[in-house]
Amino acid sequence: MIEQGVSLKTYNSFGVAAEAALFAVAKTIEDLQSILKDQRFASAWILGGGSNTLFCDTPKPPIIHLAISGIEITEEQRDEVVIKAGAGVNWHELVLWSLEKGFGGLENLALIPGNVGAAPIQNIGAYGVELQDVFESCTLVNRKDQSVETYDKVACQFGYRDSIFKRELKHKVVITDVSLRLKKENYRLNTSYGAIAHLLTSKGISTPSPKDIADVVIGIRTTKLPDPKQLGNAGSFFKNPIVDHDQVIQLKSSFPDIPHYAQPNQNYKIPAAWLIEQVGLKGAREGDVGTHKHHALVLVNYGSASGHEIKTFSQKVQQTVEERFAIRLQPEVNFCC
Ligand SMILES: Cc1cc2nc3c(=O)[nH]c(=O)nc-3n(C[C@H](O)[C@H](O)[C@H](O)COP(=O)(O)OP(=O)(O)OC[C@H]3O[C@@H](n4cnc5c(N)ncnc54)[C@H](O)[C@@H]3O)c2cc1C
Repeated sequence: MIEQGVSLKTYNSFGVAAEAALFAVAKTIEDLQSILKDQRFASAWILGGGSNTLFCDTPKPPIIHLAISGIEITEEQRDEVVIKAGAGVNWHELVLWSLEKGFGGLENLALIPGNVGAAPIQNIGAYGVELQDVFESCTLVNRKDQSVETYDKVACQFGYRDSIFKRELKHKVVITDVSLRLKKENYRLNTSYGAIAHLLTSKGISTPSPKDIADVVIGIRTTKLPDPKQLGNAGSFFKNPIVDHDQVIQLKSSFPDIPHYAQPNQNYKIPAAWLIEQVGLKGAREGDVGTHKHHALVLVNYGSASGHEIKTFSQKVQQTVEERFAIRLQPEVNFCC
């Protein structure tokens, strides 16, 4: 069914007011194919959970909301399984489902908002783990001719908060399901990031299960990150910039305290939150938009900010950081503006 003039306020974690000119829900691949054949949806915005999307009040785009459900085991060996989940499955529900079955691999990615179909778009990551670490394949529908294809990990060209879907295939395909390879035993657990190891020790856990790690991650995220239900936000608004060796030397000579973390190919990751804090914009507020007082990287809607106001504020943050550090912050959030 296609609806007209649908409010998007409850479909985005910023909680901004926006309206879809047309709104269609795809519950199956066949639904999606028939919606895509309708020329009115040729330039439609694909919407999952709306937790990484900034809607502006204009234009009023046609929307295709992915609501393909279902989780199944498609392959099972002695120590591994491959599971397949529909694009409309809530990501955290998939994590909980996998933990209940005793599968390992998704524990560090617990409580990331949004749906399964969007997870490959920016190769979601948290606490030292990225989607690509467990990714097997995904099914795509080509928007132009509605053909169906399967993409494996190599084809997806994953990078830090990046994939082919943010570049060459941007707005060209729709992901309808995602398959993940998880461990049934001999888990590859990652407790090295942040406070995970410390919190496990303080709970007296020396040989953690995937669920123990997920519980700790859920605890950290619940206490540290602003809940979009209370305060509209989309998590980290910007990516952490990656600079090369020469740039880092130059930056260190001007800013000796600048934090930098070694990456492959002699590159370095600089925490965007530190850059924003250094230019005095941590906790800054203009009207109903600002940076969170404890998380400089999280832009928040204090109530009635519009998408345009959030976009303008984000550009001010970009410009101020660039003037001081000659680094252009790149948004992690997707603008439907
Ligand atoms: C409080 C908070 C914390 C967060 N923490 C993290 C974190 O730790 N790590 C992290 O990586 N992210 C994090 N995020 C960002 C967000 O949760 C992820 O990017 C998530 O994958 C977005 O899912 P979604 O379904 O809400 O995507 P949406 O916002 O609906 O869509 C995001 C983008 O993907 C496109 N898209 C969506 N579904 C499909 C599809 N099926 N096919 C093709 N394109 C599609 C959209 O057009 C849009 O461009 C956080 C967000 C919030 C609000």
